Amino acid sequence: MEIKNVTVVGAGTMGNGIAHVFAQFGFEVTLNDIKQEFIDRALKTIGGNLDRQLKKGVISEEVKQNTLVHIKTSISLEQACKNADVVVEAATEDRAIKSQIFKILDSAAPQNTIFASNTSSISITEIAAITKRPGKVIGMHFMNPVPMMKLVEVIRGLATTQETLDMIVELAKKLDKVPVEVNDYPGFISNRVLLPMINEAVYCVMEGVATPEAIDTVMKLGMNHPMGPLTLADFIGLDVCLSIMNVLYDGLGDSKYRPCPLLKKMVAAGHLGRKTGKGFYKYEG
Ligand code: NAD
Repeated sequence: MEIKNVTVVGAGTMGNGIAHVFAQFGFEVTLNDIKQEFIDRALKTIGGNLDRQLKKGVISEEVKQNTLVHIKTSISLEQACKNADVVVEAATEDRAIKSQIFKILDSAAPQNTIFASNTSSISITEIAAITKRPGKVIGMHFMNPVPMMKLVEVIRGLATTQETLDMIVELAKKLDKVPVEVNDYPGFISNRVLLPMINEAVYCVMEGVATPEAIDTVMKLGMNHPMGPLTLADFIGLDVCLSIMNVLYDGLGDSKYRPCPLLKKMVAAGHLGRKTGKGFYKYEG
């Protein structure tokens, strides 16, 4: 099956980036969200990001124009998916919302359409079980910001077929990404390895081992990480970090994944990092 039409569900942070890269590489994209204003905001962001790529010489004026031409929009999910070869779901990380979306997709999309979810923490096996086509459901976990980040974790659910996996691996390559195959377990690889490191850095702050600045400096200069774990936690959002730790703790049932009490306390206080102006560091403006 040749993949030509791609529907992206959810036009937020990840959805606009995913629509951007598919359109940039010549796919016919239909971008869906629940309100026109969310779609308009996404198109504005895509336009701005294309301008930045043009200025940096990453793309030509022609690619910029063609990318925008390749993106159609719809606030009806049924309409948006009716010609889709692949649907990439990047809606809000909420089980009930995703469950509703996959039920609609399963009844409205053609029978051979592949469903890929960009979820960070919900089991692909569980999402697949909502549909009558579990073999055609897979995880396609892009990284933020999507146009810049090379990695796509391709998550194989328990029922995902080899054919579906091969198609999505090839599709990711066509977007100039590097696909990495992962079996469906909580946190996949990225969050399973990253979040316990961040959580341990928070324990170091809580126990008075060192200041956030000292911990970040050790990891940057000593381990060659581009960003220290606490700066990164502020960037991701401490609420998101806590929710991923809870997914690892609940899903794997091992006490080594328990979220640090200081992380819980900061989230309870509304100190969520960059987005609230205060986390392990203070942010102006
Ligand atoms: P976001 O809040 O920025 O965007 C979510 C969008 O989904 C919103 O525009 C919302 O209106 C829309 N939406 C909600 N219900 C919908 C429905 N029924 N139909 C269509 N659209 C609907 O969230 P995000 O950060 O873009 O995250 C989206 C997905 O990507 C989540 O599953 C998240 O776990 C995953 N993810 C996020 C990141 C990240 O860094 N933000 C990285 C990798 C994966």
